[in-house]
Parts: sequence; C-alpha cells; structure tokens
Amino acid sequence: MSPVSVHEAEQPRILLVDDEPRLLASLFELLRDGPYQLATASTGEQALQELARLKFDLVLLDLRLPDMSGHDVMDFIRARGIDVDVIVISGEGAIDAAIGAIKRGAYDYLRKPYSREELLHTVGKALQRRALALSNARMASQLETSERMYRYLVDSSPDIIYTLNHEGRFTFVNDRVEQLLGISREELIGKHYSVLVHDEDQERARYVFNERRRDQKAARKVELRLKCFNGNAIERTFSHCLTSIALNAIGLAQDGAVLPHDYFGTYGVARDITERKRAEELISYQAYHDILTDLPNRILFKDRLGLAVIQAKRKQTELAVMFIDLDRFKLVNDTLGHVKGDELLQQVAARLKSVVRRGDTLARQGGDEFTVVLPELAQRADAELIADKFLESLQQPFALDGHEVHISASIGIAVYPDDGETIDELLRHADIAMYHVKGQGKNGHCFYDNSMLDITHQKIVLEQALRRAIEEGQLEMYYQPQVDLASGRVVGAEGLMRWNHPLRGVLTAGEFLPFAEEIGLMLPLSDWMVGALCRDLTRWNLNGGEHVRLSLNVSPQYLERGDFFDKMRAAMLEHKLSPEQIEVEITENICIRNPQHAIDQLQKLCQLGVAVAIDDFGTGYSSLSYLHRFPVHTIKIDQAFVREIRDEHGHYPVILAIISIARGLGLHLIAEGVENEVQARYLQANGCTVMQGYLYHRPMPLTQLLGVFARDALQVPRMAAPAMLAARQA
Ligand code: C2E
Ligand code: CA
Ligand code: CA
Repeated sequence: MSPVSVHEAEQPRILLVDDEPRLLASLFELLRDGPYQLATASTGEQALQELARLKFDLVLLDLRLPDMSGHDVMDFIRARGIDVDVIVISGEGAIDAAIGAIKRGAYDYLRKPYSREELLHTVGKALQRRALALSNARMASQLETSERMYRYLVDSSPDIIYTLNHEGRFTFVNDRVEQLLGISREELIGKHYSVLVHDEDQERARYVFNERRRDQKAARKVELRLKCFNGNAIERTFSHCLTSIALNAIGLAQDGAVLPHDYFGTYGVARDITERKRAEELISYQAYHDILTDLPNRILFKDRLGLAVIQAKRKQTELAVMFIDLDRFKLVNDTLGHVKGDELLQQVAARLKSVVRRGDTLARQGGDEFTVVLPELAQRADAELIADKFLESLQQPFALDGHEVHISASIGIAVYPDDGETIDELLRHADIAMYHVKGQGKNGHCFYDNSMLDITHQKIVLEQALRRAIEEGQLEMYYQPQVDLASGRVVGAEGLMRWNHPLRGVLTAGEFLPFAEEIGLMLPLSDWMVGALCRDLTRWNLNGGEHVRLSLNVSPQYLERGDFFDKMRAAMLEHKLSPEQIEVEITENICIRNPQHAIDQLQKLCQLGVAVAIDDFGTGYSSLSYLHRFPVHTIKIDQAFVREIRDEHGHYPVILAIISIARGLGLHLIAEGVENEVQARYLQANGCTVMQGYLYHRPMPLTQLLGVFARDALQVPRMAAPAMLAARQA
C-alpha cells in the first residue's frame, strides 16, 4: 500500500459493502470523484476484516450479504466499539430489515434503486454531521480542560477570589478562603459577606459595597478586617483572630463583561496583607519608641509635648517638662559594661514609669536621659511632688547580676508658660535646670530660673579652659604623705592632681577630673601626669625621699585605652627611677570589667617591679578573685568606711573585715581620709597603722613635701603621735 498523503489522510474514509459486483462498481463510480477514500467489500467477512483493519468514517452497507446479514456487521461494529456511521442500503423487500438496522444505530438508509443525487446528498449529510459532532466533542474537551485550568488557577491563587450576588451573598469563592479564614466554601456560599467582616469594619464594608453600585467607576480598593474561624465550629464566632485584607471589588455584568450598568454582583479579590500590616505597625511603633526601654522616644515626646502646649495655651493652664539625668551612670556603664548598663536603664525606666500618671508622658531622650511632660498642672508644687517620687523610686538598690547598684538622678523642671512657651525652650530650660542640680551635688530636682547660665555654654568654656590648662602649665601634682604610726614616719605619698585655675584658684581633682573624663580629656591629662610625677620623683629622691614610695592614680580609661605601660617605662628609664618605688592605684572596678588590655598593662608593670594598690577598697562591685590576676601589694580602706568610725571602742565590721583580709593575704594596708584621732586610734588598735588624711597632712605641692621629708629625717623613730604630726602640719 502506498503511503497516504496528508491531504488524503484528512479525507473521510468510506467502506462500500455490496455483494452484487455491478452495484458495488456503480457505487464506487459515483463516489470516486468526491473527496473520499474508498474501500470495498463484497462479503460480510471482507467487511469485518476491513473494519478491523482501518478506521472508517462511514459504511455504506447492503443488508443482504451472502455469508451474513448487515445486522451482523452492525453488531460487530457495536461490539467492537468502532466509531463509524452506517448508511444502510436496502432493497425493496428489506425495508423492515432496514428499519431494524436503523434501530441498531444506523444513521440513514438508501432505498434501491437510488438516484445519484440522493446517494451523494445522504453521504454528504452524514459526513458533515459527523464532522460537526467531532468538532463539538473536541471543543467540549477543550472547554473542559480550560475550565479545569481556570479552576486550578483560581483555587491556587494566594488571594481569596469571590463573587457576590446583588444582595451581597456569596455565589462563588475559591478554596483559599478555608485556609486563610478557617471557613469552608460550601459553608460560605449563599451567606452574606458581612458574616466575615470584623465588627468595627462593617460600616465601611457597607459603604464600599453599596457605593460602588451607584458609582460609575467599577473598581474600588479598601482595607477590611475579616474574621477568622479556628475550625472549632462551636466557638467560631468568639475565638476568631482578625485579618486585614484589601478588597478589590468590581461590578460584574450578566455576560461576564465588566460594565457599569446591569450590575449583577460583585467580583472580589481579597489579599491577605496581615503580615505587611503588622510590619508597618511595628515599623511605625519603632519609629516612635525606644527599643531598649519601650518608652516613647524623643520624636514622640516632642509630638506629645507640642499637643500639651497647644492645650495648655487654649485652656490657659500650666504644664511641666522634666529632664531626668542619671547620676554616675557612666561609672556603672564603664564598670559593668554596656550590657549591664542597658539592663540598668531598663530597670530605671520601669521604676520611673510606675510613678507617672495617665496622661503624663515619660520618654527616653537617649543615653541615661529621660524626659517627662505633665500636662494640666494644677500648681507648680505638683511637679515637685512627682519629681520627689521619681527620686524615691530610684532609692532602692538595683540588682544587676548579683551586684547591688545604687543610682540617683538629677531632675530639672521647666513650667509652661513661665519658663518657656515653646517646646524647644521648655526642653532647653529643663535641661539647664538639670545641670544646675548636677552642679549642686546631684540627686535632687529644681525649677528652671533665669539666673542659671546656659549650661552648654558653661561646658564649652570649661572644656576650652581645661585644654588650655594642659598647654599652659596650669596643672600641678600635689602629694599627700602617708604616715606609719608604728614608726611615726612618712612611708609613702599619693600624687593628686590640681588645677591652678587663673580665676577660681586651686581646684582639686574631684572638682574637674570627672568632667575631664566625661569629655574625653583623660588621656592627655594622664600623659601629663606620668611626666610630672617622674620629674617630681627625681627631685624628691635628691631631697631625702628615697625611702618614700610614690603612688599614682590611673584612670580606667587610661589603662584601657592608653599606652600606660610604655609611657611609664619610658619615663622611668629617662629619669632613672626605680620601679620598686612606684605604686599604681587602681579601683576594684577595673578588675571586674577585665578588659584584657588593662590587665596586660598591669601585669607588665608588675613584672617591672611596680606595685599595685587597690583604691577605695570595699566600695566596688568586686569579688576578691582579681587578686590572682596580678600581684596586689596594698589595699586602701575607703574614706567612706573611715568616716563611719565615731567611737574609738565601737565595732565597725567592714573595717575589721578589710583588715583581716589584708592580714590573711599579707597585703599592705592604708586607711584613707583619716580626719580625727578617734578614727586613727580605732584603726591602729585594730591593726591598721598606715594612715593618710587631713589629720596628718593635706595634699601639698612638691616643695612643701620636700620640707616634710626634711623634717621627717630629723624625726626620732617611734616617737611620733598623730596629734604631734597634726600640730606640725598646721
Ligand atoms: P582618691 O584616689 O580616693 O583620692 C583621695 C581623695 O581624698 C583626694 O581628693 C584627696 O584630696 C582626698 N582626701 C585626702 N585626705 C582626706 C581627708 O582626710 N578627708 C577628706 N574628706 N578627703 C581627703 P582629690 O584630690 O580631689 O581626688 C579625687 C579623686 O580623683 C581621687 O580619689 C582619684 O581617684 C582621682 N585623682 C586624683 N588625682 C589624680 C591623678 O593624678 N590622676 C588620676 N587618674 N586620678 C586622680
Ligand atoms: Ca587614690
Ligand atoms: Ca581613694
């Protein structure tokens, strides 16, 4: 068989079945010029073979065949499920059989003798119908596929897609609704949309769903919250969570086109924007709150203050603004580290918060600064009352990881309208008042007063002055001798920095060093100190002070950041000083923070032979574990403990404990700040014999110290009594 052309393949294939050769030939003749592929069979058996072999569109079937009837052929077709149309050709006497064949599913029949036109017409009609049915079937299957496809797309959309009828009832909703809201589509169909809408949004929903019908513009956007059903059918109305969604609804016309008229329902797409909403809320919250303390930040504070000022202006009332700054917070932060510092701030914030009333705003301004606005102040005194409460709330120590930390605050208050009429003015004046409190010894509050100088201005002036002091040699080292009562002799002296201020006279270290530390001048000051001390020490050795040890204070900042060791070693080499004569005083706190650099510096110094003293012993946060880090030589009993001694025969357990620690560890012991004989006698009686304090000597310039050495050399050992030394000093 020759291969069929594409064209031939598309032509309908017809099987002609007749046992009479003439009739078969004439059938063939009649159809051969048409667009058909023809095959012939002259027996039933041949017909069955052809049908089994090829796929036909049409069979022209003579009912009377020699070996079987046309019915048998049709039964075969039916039994095999062959999709072919049959036109029965029947002789006059076979009419009944023809009708039987038609009942078996034949398409039509041709009665013999038939005309040429009749044959062509019937065949053409059958084939045309068949082609039509075929294309219909193909279309139907295509439709089904595409319908399945759309269904799939709609159901797997991340959004809820729905339609509502004119009453606002669901006529369609995709599967997503169940996943997002916990309610099944079956349950929802026929229900009014309002069952899903959050109560607070019902009004708005009604507005958008109704208004759209009158509106020419079909599409609208709105954010609505929908109820969530937890799948717990009994409790669903109550145990719901809320989802914010954007509804995108457009009018849907009868034919599916989007038309402004003939409105028939609503088509909507609801997108779940809950996460985005939450993120937005969080972002805006964070923009207006301090993350650490969860208090309003300075932006929100200014906003609230602005509103409060407007209100006060309108109602002609007063309002108070407070500036709260923690005292010595920097020390805690430096000592215990930022993490603990942050923790302390959180605890402080919580306590301050417990004081403010509803309507007041407490905010964190940054660092250790807080601000408060008290709107509608009845009288000035009320602000004072609240400030007192703030201070009170801080009085109990804070627990930080086993350390007890005491902290106080300085509070400045400015009242509208007397102390300022604008936000900035009020804040600035409260700030100035706060600095005034700091200057007065901290831990207190006061109202702004016009007589207070602008504090920032003061600060700048002071900073410039201090820089100039270093450059122009206004600094000087003073020395405070340490006396051993056992021998009556001066055994050491502590170097203490002084500032010969051109206007204010001699300033003590306590008066300007904390400030220097704050503004970062500690490094140049310390550099200067090292040089000055070593120069002085050479002079004092030349004047009979070789047996007197020099102790110097090193600030934590310098130890941690400066190259203290290198500077000391270079200076000692330059001045040919013996390291054994030098002792560095550090506070306990440096040991806790354990910055490796500081420890390294100290260890290297110790290796050179420099001794280490722990200053202000007992006031820090320490355990004794640091004593293993480097050889500690001396501990100094802090003035605060010495000051407590008021009765020579009293019992002062802290002092006794320190003395026994020193004895147990074989350390030198020096009592600081000894101001009277009661203190001296108590200390001596209990085993601490080396004293430093006003009772014996105040800190003094070098020249004066040399005088003390000179007199000390004449002193007969073991004869000295505190009273005599004091008298000599006076
Ligand atoms: P500190 O090391 O505890 O020094 C003792 C302070 O007590 C000194 O104050 C001293 O003048 C004072 N003082 C001595 N005897 C008595 C007394 O009997 N009664 C009373 N009430 N006070 C007495 P100063 O000189 O104002 O120093 C304050 C702090 O500044 C020192 O405390 C020390 O930590 C630091 N400092 C002083 N000089 C230097 C220095 O050159 N470098 C560094 N880094 N820090 C220094
Ligand atoms: Ca000291
Ligand atoms: Ca001290």
